[in-house]
Amino acid sequence: MTIKSLIRTIPHYPKPGVQFRDITTLLKDPLGLKVTVDALVKRYADQRIDKVVGIESRGFMVGAPLAYQLGVGFVPVRKQGKLPAETLGHDYQLEYGSDRVEIHTDAITPGERVLLVDDLVATGGTALAAATLISKLGGTLVECACVIDLVSLGGRKRLETADIPLFALCEYE
Ligand code: IMP
Repeated sequence: MTIKSLIRTIPHYPKPGVQFRDITTLLKDPLGLKVTVDALVKRYADQRIDKVVGIESRGFMVGAPLAYQLGVGFVPVRKQGKLPAETLGHDYQLEYGSDRVEIHTDAITPGERVLLVDDLVATGGTALAAATLISKLGGTLVECACVIDLVSLGGRKRLETADIPLFALCEYE
């Protein structure tokens, strides 16, 4: 069993021409879920991580069990208007238009070593926006971890230009 073999590809979703990589088929498989979380636990167990930050919504599905296994807290980064207490937000550009991510201002203590988690990195724009929030709250971003890196969209380069290493469990062109 490989992680990639359990990821489903949906052609033309959410719009024509897009190949959507769907991790729900990976997560519903007991061994798939275990192998995914265990691989990340193995990589980060000795890296003195203080907090795992997951990006809405699929970053929660991987980030929360990872935080639990690492014995650290989990923090959500959410789309605009979803978090109930005081937030810090960051706007970023999409292919068409813009988006905004937010974090609770008390979610990270300055100096904490933070691991950022999402299901997939494409252009890296979402991860960079989340990284900006972590940095503004005084966190030290150790790495961005994801299940899938869509290599041809250049997220890794973009993140590395901002001094953010990217770790991906698998890659697609
Ligand atoms: P980026 O900001 O261009 O790197 O896009 C990454 C964000 O879009 C992540 O939060 C992903 O969850 C989401 N995303 C983009 N393409 C896909 C896909 O094919 N499958 C699942 N999520 C995707």
